[in-house]
Amino acid sequence: MIDPKPTASHFVNGAYLEDTSGTPIEVFYPATGEVIATVYAATPAVVEAAVASAKAAQKEWASWTGTERGRVLRRAADIMRDRNHDLSQLETFDTGKPMSETLYVDATSGADALEYFGGLAGSLTGEHIQLGEDFVYTMREPLGVCVGIGAWNYPTQISCWKGAPALACGNAMIFKPSETTPLCALKVAEILVEAGLPAGLYNVIQGLGDVGHSLITDPRVDKVSLTGSVATGKKVYATAAEGMRHVTMELGGKSPLIVFDDADVEAAVSGAILGNFYSSGQVCSNGTRVFVQSGIKPAFVARLKERLAGAVLGDPMDETTTFGPMVSARQREIVEGFVAKGQEEGAVLVCGGTRLDKPGFWLTPAIFDNVTDDMTIARDEIFGPVLSVLSFETEDEVVARANDTEFGLAAGVFTKDLSRGHRMVKALEAGTCYINTYNDAPVEAPFGGVKLSGVGRENSKAAINHFSQMKSVYVRLSEIEAPF
Ligand code: NDP
Repeated sequence: MIDPKPTASHFVNGAYLEDTSGTPIEVFYPATGEVIATVYAATPAVVEAAVASAKAAQKEWASWTGTERGRVLRRAADIMRDRNHDLSQLETFDTGKPMSETLYVDATSGADALEYFGGLAGSLTGEHIQLGEDFVYTMREPLGVCVGIGAWNYPTQISCWKGAPALACGNAMIFKPSETTPLCALKVAEILVEAGLPAGLYNVIQGLGDVGHSLITDPRVDKVSLTGSVATGKKVYATAAEGMRHVTMELGGKSPLIVFDDADVEAAVSGAILGNFYSSGQVCSNGTRVFVQSGIKPAFVARLKERLAGAVLGDPMDETTTFGPMVSARQREIVEGFVAKGQEEGAVLVCGGTRLDKPGFWLTPAIFDNVTDDMTIARDEIFGPVLSVLSFETEDEVVARANDTEFGLAAGVFTKDLSRGHRMVKALEAGTCYINTYNDAPVEAPFGGVKLSGVGRENSKAAINHFSQMKSVYVRLSEIEAPF
């Protein structure tokens, strides 16, 4: 078993850095509630060191060819894959997610991002626009110093999803993990340097919202990419606007998953499980409002309940465990509050929503039936293992109800009628839609939200536009004329 204690709290200018005068942040292993490490929030001196080293290193990095930059990222991807087992254990220590997930999803998707953007780096270009005899060419330039601020559910993946495209485009990145999961991003920084990334280009500093705030108000910072809640997103977006900084906002959701009468029940139940209980439900794009057409609803709920009974809640380090604890005591309390509210407002708790009689932040997966659109559990993001079943009759009705939310991150449809599937996703207000599947997030596909769920896109070629800017150069070959 790896030792989860980091070498030091921060990784700045190519090396670990400690400053114990910062506020201590205890790191809990969610499965036992034990403190496994302590890191210290960045002091103003650490923030300064991070920003200064990023600023100093970025110009030289941008002068490398894309192929050279990409080579570093691809090497880092290989190292991550080689160390997948240890990195997965660390992710499990940080988040409590079982190894049956972390072995396949976290360092591996981080490596995918490094490999994908590493491959893309050499092909980043501007364009040539012919204007008669004259022409314009555009240059794709990096933004400069970018700040990444992460949520706690996917600490390795989020640090790579932000770092890889930023670095591919020639930027420097300063990443501030969530205070709840500070360990994994440090390893990403260490691996990048081992792969040949020059010092200062990928710094990780710890802290709470105030550290994030001091980073994004620094005049040397050009961009902020946040993964977090809508409330934090509004604050960070407003702060970034004061300095006219670029933003990417990956925020929360309350996504609909719609199951039609003609769907394969077993497949739809699988989709609902993947879209509600993976990572103990702590996934932003989860399809937590499960609209089921009335004819199929009894069979769907019965089978879902049966399948949930097969979830294995055990030691997350044991690969046969399939369901882990919540990330923190606080998050469990929030989710329990929603479970109580659901019952108070008249929804039927089919199963789950209870603690296990052991240490750690365990909460059993919950299904609510007979949920109506106005209930709190159908309107607010819960961010935990709580699935709500709502009944519907017609396609038009379910589209209107599914879209009646301030969020717009994802949406899914299960049906055997593919015309209806395509018609539905066209009508649904969401950044990512699924037909007969749920929650796939390959690096090749754009990911992000509409409405309050966010601004900009991560992953895919689309992310390049959010980490670079175009300069237009007008070249006149024709004679130049002036009015006087
Ligand atoms: P929070 O919004 O609480 O925090 C996100 C990050 O922002 C943390 O690192 C936090 O620091 C930091 N932060 C808080 N306040 C400020 C501030 N004023 N200025 C700068 N930084 C600040 O989210 P959670 O960590 O609780 O994550 C859960 C949320 O993230 C959910 O709403 C979920 O939907 C969303 N999410 C979205 C995803 C997406 O891709 N769309 C993916 C995953 C999660 P600290 O917490 O250390 O104080």
